[in-house]
Amino acid sequence: MGTRKGLKLRSVLMLLVIGSILLTAAFGGYFAWKMNKTSLTNGYLESNYQYAKKLASNTNELLRIMRTNIDGISQIATKLSISQNSQKELDIWYEASEHYFNAILIVNKDRVVTAASTQNEGKFVGTKLTSLASFEAVQQQAPLISQPYLGSASKRLLVMISSPIFNERDEYVGFVAGTVFLNDDNALNKSLSEHFYGNGSYVYVADKNGHLIFHPDKSRMNEMILTNDAINKAISGRSGAQQIVNSQNKSYFAGYAYEPLTGWAIIAQTPASIIDEPLKRLIWRLVFQSLPVFIVILLIAWYVSYMLSKPLFELAAFSEEAILSPKASSQRMPRINSYIYEVRQLNRSINNHFNLLNKEIRLDGLTGLANRKTFDLTIAEWLAEGVPFVLILLDIDHFKAINDRYGHLIGDEVLTYTASLIKRFSRSHDLCFRYGGEEFGILVRGGTVAVATQMAERLREGIGAEASPTGSSVFVSIGISHSDGQAAEAKAIIEMADKALYMSKETGRNRTTVYEHKQAGQ
Ligand code: GH3
Ligand code: MG
Ligand code: MG
Repeated sequence: MGTRKGLKLRSVLMLLVIGSILLTAAFGGYFAWKMNKTSLTNGYLESNYQYAKKLASNTNELLRIMRTNIDGISQIATKLSISQNSQKELDIWYEASEHYFNAILIVNKDRVVTAASTQNEGKFVGTKLTSLASFEAVQQQAPLISQPYLGSASKRLLVMISSPIFNERDEYVGFVAGTVFLNDDNALNKSLSEHFYGNGSYVYVADKNGHLIFHPDKSRMNEMILTNDAINKAISGRSGAQQIVNSQNKSYFAGYAYEPLTGWAIIAQTPASIIDEPLKRLIWRLVFQSLPVFIVILLIAWYVSYMLSKPLFELAAFSEEAILSPKASSQRMPRINSYIYEVRQLNRSINNHFNLLNKEIRLDGLTGLANRKTFDLTIAEWLAEGVPFVLILLDIDHFKAINDRYGHLIGDEVLTYTASLIKRFSRSHDLCFRYGGEEFGILVRGGTVAVATQMAERLREGIGAEASPTGSSVFVSIGISHSDGQAAEAKAIIEMADKALYMSKETGRNRTTVYEHKQAGQ
């Protein structure tokens, strides 16, 4: 595929086909990948969003139940007034709501614990609470769910749900508090920690200030998160889903929801890398599925481009050879079979041009006989093949005088007329040619001198007997030489015929002389 000669049509067609297949495949693959990625991404975002929303609503329901529980105790406490006597009722309540709270306390308005559930008996009674939650409870005298805080003694994160207690005179006397350790085994913890961890997904919760209050990694509890978009949006009251990048630069599909009772942000998230594997599988599947089609298209394209380019290639190769070959006249046009209009048309016109050129190269323009060049080629060919032949050379007598007397045009007509007679008196497989000027010849293939001499004599007499375009006869002198097919040079054979012809001229013209080898010595 030399670039100096130009690119081959077949290569260009194949490149075109391969290029378009690859480009189509690349675009198709890219769009399939993109669509799948979007659909998988949306799927994970949506399911995490739904999950976060569900968790928020479960948490909300749970907190309501817990608050109702504490409200119930506060009402009984009101009836009983706060005293040790309420211990029994407290224990019954605690038992009933054990899985919600780690402890239930009755606290007076000085924040001193006056009663506590049995489990923690003695531990809390008499203690003065110092948490912000207890201050708020006393100050607001209303049902409260505190923000998560670190217990002063336990150093663990807890939430306090409280309800005020009023005496018969409607005076505020204290509050009932249910405490929940967020990391302990209780209903809230269970509800937030039973999740689908299988695929790397997990749930975490932040309070309204952005502190982590639930996280599978316990060491991160109470950590303050400022840069998490999902948390920031959820604690501002919104619910939704988006792809986020965490502090370790890992990407996640996060669904987030807002819990209205506490202002907590609940986030369910799945590593974005979860879709890498299915996407990779998709690409491989696409590659494997399209490979056979690719190969079939390639084979068809190869065949079609072969069929398309073959005739053009043959024509091109032929014309290249025709230009380079010295024997242009013996070149045969290739047979072209093509259904393509352009190829057929091209073939036809090359054929016509070639035939025309061939004729012009081979034939003498005036007489239509073979020209000197064809004569040279033929004699060389016959010598090379070892074909025996006889060379008859003839020269019109006193032709100059015809030209002088009748003019060149009539002279030309005499030449054409002589050529037609030469043609008539020779056989079809002999080569009649114009040697130059008013000299002609016949190469008699396979002929003996005797046969050729007879032919020459008939011709000479024939010419002499007919009226030429001048109105009267012209006469010719003839010289004959012979080649037996053995090694000899064309030049020598022509010289011998020439000498014989010279002899004819010398000895009076209008006669035939055969070159005799003894002449060579004279
Ligand atoms: P000779 O009998 O010795 O052959 O005498 P000749 O006059 O035939 O020979 P000469 O060689 O003296 O003259 C040949 C002439 O042929 C000279 C030239 O002008 C003429 N001639 C050559 N080619 C052509 C041609 O194509 N057309 C015409 N009209 N004349 C030609
Ligand atoms: Mg002459
Ligand atoms: Mg002459």
